[in-house]
Amino acid sequence: MSIPDNIRLIENELIGTPCKLIAVTKTKPVSDLMEAYHAGCRRFGENKVQEMVDKYDQLPKDIEWHMIGHLQSNKVKYMASFVHLIHGVDSLDLLKEINKRAAQHERVIECLLQVYIAQEDTKFGLDYHEVMEILGSSEFQLLNNIKIVGLMGMASNTEDMGLVRQEFRKLKMFFDQLKGQVSLPNVEIKELSMGMSGDYEIAIEEGSTMIRVGSKIFGERNYSVSQ
Ligand SMILES: *Cc1c(COP(=O)(O)O)cnc(C)c1O
Repeated sequence: MSIPDNIRLIENELIGTPCKLIAVTKTKPVSDLMEAYHAGCRRFGENKVQEMVDKYDQLPKDIEWHMIGHLQSNKVKYMASFVHLIHGVDSLDLLKEINKRAAQHERVIECLLQVYIAQEDTKFGLDYHEVMEILGSSEFQLLNNIKIVGLMGMASNTEDMGLVRQEFRKLKMFFDQLKGQVSLPNVEIKELSMGMSGDYEIAIEEGSTMIRVGSKIFGERNYSVSQ
């Protein structure tokens, strides 16, 4: 199966749903991204800032760049001029830095708060209480150059699809709750980023609005060569 075929298959599954495809291009060469681009893809996800910047420089400018990885504060400045959405925000300090860099470019950068839903303790993210604490703080409410547009989560890396579904469902419940509960100028809860190659079909059923799919489009990543 070719990259365009894989994209078409997934796009077909999204018809009639509110869900958008983020093609996860980390470790993949620019030629693969161009193939995806020519197949109609305009949303690319990367997990390393330097790699995203390099690819941004080389590719057409109508692409939306999504930062999906864990982000260090000192890297925000390199992508602040162009990043479309930052999926993995997990602290107020990081939001403050994003706000500062967005202001320097006279932009508002949209962010998702990463919520911890998996059973493993290797994954980053906030719990329900920490999300409410951030949104409720006066410091947060002063940040005019960021906007929280939703939540992101990663399910457990397991064969147990019942567990995965349960985790997605929990995140969707929290998402709905937050939507009704928070009314602030820099918050508009509308995006729920969940689902990867192994579990995106379940995520769509459970209400995802953004699936982040890499290997199902581009094939397995070879970390030994590219990292
Ligand atoms: C790599 C990555 C993905 C895509 O993973 P695949 O299993 O290749 O689809 C999705 N989300 C995040 C946060 C990632 O780091």
